Amino acid sequence: MGIKIVKREGGSLKDRLYIPAIFGGMKTTLRHFITNISDTSKVKTFSYPEVQPSDITSRYRGIHRLTKREDGSIRCVACFMCATACPAECIFIEAKEREDGVDEKMPEIFTIDVLECVFCGGCVEACPCDAIRMDTGIFSFVALKREDFVLTKERLLSHEAKKETL
Ligand code: SF4
Ligand code: SF4
Repeated sequence: MGIKIVKREGGSLKDRLYIPAIFGGMKTTLRHFITNISDTSKVKTFSYPEVQPSDITSRYRGIHRLTKREDGSIRCVACFMCATACPAECIFIEAKEREDGVDEKMPEIFTIDVLECVFCGGCVEACPCDAIRMDTGIFSFVALKREDFVLTKERLLSHEAKKETL
């Protein structure tokens, strides 16, 4: 009652043999292969990492950076908002008293473990001081040791914002 019976497809001898479907798939693959090899300018892929993508916008979430004030000092006030918001719990901050009088506190240690980071952008959203951003455009990050994936405060401060190319 109220049930719609849908006719089951694929029961013919041709369907059950599978061979025609396999040849159909191979025909499509061969067509794309010949099209791509005869005119490589239309190929949608490129030889990464030799060829790097050039269409990454500043909105792309890359590796983090810590921003600086106009005087060059660190903008972060060690409020722990980013570490609290981080779902991966990969931000570690140790605060210290600020001696330059610009603010009360600053981070003595500020690290981000990018192997644990899920690049959600939560830290950037949570920061009340615009002290952390993910606009470096660094999306390809390699290292030989586990420790090298833990970005230190100095390293985060050394990262630059990616110049907009689009
Ligand atoms: S991007 Fe997300 S996971 Fe990564 S450090 Fe920021 S809040 Fe944590
Ligand atoms: S980066 Fe922003 S949210 Fe994180 S501790 Fe510094 S000021 Fe606070």
